[in-house]
Amino acid sequence: MSTVAAKKQFWFVVGSQHLYGEAALSEVKTHAQTMTDILNKSGMLPYPLILQDLAVSADKITSLMKEVNYRDEVAGVITWMHTFSPAKMWIRGTKLLQKPLLHLATQYNESIPWATMDMDFMNLNQAAHGDREYGFINARLKKQNKIVVGYWERPEVQRQIADWMDVAVAFNESFNIKVARFGDNMRNVGVTEGDKIEAQIQLGWTVDYYGIGDLVQYINEVTDEEVDALFAEYAALYEFDYGPYSKDAWEASVKVQASYEIAIKRFLDHGGYNAFTTNFEDLHGMMQLPGLAVQRLMASGYGFAGEGDWKTAALDRLLKVMSHNKATGFMEDYTYELMAGQESILQSHMLEVDPTLASNRPKIIVSPLSIGDREAPARLVFDGRSGDGVVVSMADFGTHFKLLINEVSAFEPTIPAPKLPVARVLWNVKPNFQDGVKAWIENGGGHHTVVSLHLTTDQVVTYARLVDLEYVVIK
Ligand code: MN
Repeated sequence: MSTVAAKKQFWFVVGSQHLYGEAALSEVKTHAQTMTDILNKSGMLPYPLILQDLAVSADKITSLMKEVNYRDEVAGVITWMHTFSPAKMWIRGTKLLQKPLLHLATQYNESIPWATMDMDFMNLNQAAHGDREYGFINARLKKQNKIVVGYWERPEVQRQIADWMDVAVAFNESFNIKVARFGDNMRNVGVTEGDKIEAQIQLGWTVDYYGIGDLVQYINEVTDEEVDALFAEYAALYEFDYGPYSKDAWEASVKVQASYEIAIKRFLDHGGYNAFTTNFEDLHGMMQLPGLAVQRLMASGYGFAGEGDWKTAALDRLLKVMSHNKATGFMEDYTYELMAGQESILQSHMLEVDPTLASNRPKIIVSPLSIGDREAPARLVFDGRSGDGVVVSMADFGTHFKLLINEVSAFEPTIPAPKLPVARVLWNVKPNFQDGVKAWIENGGGHHTVVSLHLTTDQVVTYARLVDLEYVVIK
């Protein structure tokens, strides 16, 4: 499962006009080509920028934007108002554009060349003028475009373009998110419910139900050879901890998870699914709850959430695409540390903690679940890494979905927990423990979340605006 959406690219559209003659336009083209080449070679942008013909007429702009909508490989448009570009000619194309738009407010020259500048220079390099003309139309059209301001060769400007590109690709991929639910929601739980048809209309998420027997059929078809090959891969990647089990009993248990990993992956890939849910209350025909199997699939980019929580599974897939699957995964609030000055929240799940968040080499252990009635499942155990990031939940309020975003500081646990049979991640919330936790609860944020120590609040908010999702930021 690739998290980087196939081959994506962005189109660079430079605004100008015919008023100053062909020589001026040819200079604009040279500037635009140089800027495109340098930005592409900077190593800062995750996707290539493809320069288009100069935008000098309404017909040209309209046909460009139609082409952007039509071509799957084009994830969005970056515009630059090099020379004053009368904005009436942008109206029709901008209205038609269905993909993310970034207005780069920059200028070819960094400084004003006082000693040599004449009126020709002024007319050619008037982005300050054109930015306002163009910005007026985008504001009036209520276009949820991003605006990045500053000299284009600066790393902090390129960083902002890169962050937006990742959001734009995630926006495009949002309409390709397909969740397979093995079983329904966990009984009696409220926050995991929601309106699936509204999620498809607003966010593009397809959510399909399967009986667990459909998956069991795939599990039964996995061969011993396939399991042995995957088990050898585990040996290369993880520490083995037999605990109280004999080597044979331990291996037999781990190999059950290997067969689940192969079967779930095959099932998902056959149906074009890139996210899934399980439910420990619905495991007919399975000996274990999928633990290690789920963790391995998360690590390779599939979205996941437990207890039938399809909203969080889809959100996980979305943020994995946005973050290139770096330090991003499904999480659950578990236990508070309330000692003054050390307040924090222990994050975990009964098994399925995402290895992209690991700070150390995970080890495989086998341990009873102490919930449900199945055999002791194998899982990866590790400590979470440190870093600043965001934790995000999506709740259904009946009339609308609401995204809740809390900034967090994760830190590596220092005290060993030898009896804890699950991976653990520890963080404190912004602005502080009391106010952050209170705001989360007041806003109805769920216990199932997706955390990312790679993404920023601004990126999640940019996505929320693109899909018209209500959001609250706690920071
Ligand atoms: Mn849960």
